[in-house]
Amino acid sequence: MPSKYMTRQRRAILSYLGRHADELLSAREIGEALQGQDVSLSAVYRNLAELEAEGALLRDSHGGGREAGYRYIGAERCRGCLHLSCKKCGRTFHMDSAGAELLADTLARLEGFALDKGDTVLYGTCEDCRYARGP
Ligand SMILES: [Zn+2]
Ligand SMILES: [Zn+2]
Repeated sequence: MPSKYMTRQRRAILSYLGRHADELLSAREIGEALQGQDVSLSAVYRNLAELEAEGALLRDSHGGGREAGYRYIGAERCRGCLHLSCKKCGRTFHMDSAGAELLADTLARLEGFALDKGDTVLYGTCEDCRYARGP
């Protein structure tokens, strides 16, 4: 019975994450969004930890002092994509596959390193943030 209960909660969490793929979400935000669906905050934390261990979720500690954020990259459209994450605005982008191939080829050639594209996030500053004028 407890495992069935967890499965239902996990489904609710996964469905929410799938609708918010690539967004930076805190456990509390996810918990609040799922409040109406009878998903406890402890279930959210437990499932996030499991999903992180399975590689479907990335913990993002670049928020600087804020609570840890999670990014769901297990969505269908994320599969095999190399992710670029902006440290300023927190948005995530998919690197186009030609660029990702080039990067993977370069790493393989120069470092003898086989890059796992679907499991990789590069951190930096996005185009919008680089050229944005100060407030
Ligand atoms: Zn993605
Ligand atoms: Zn940005």
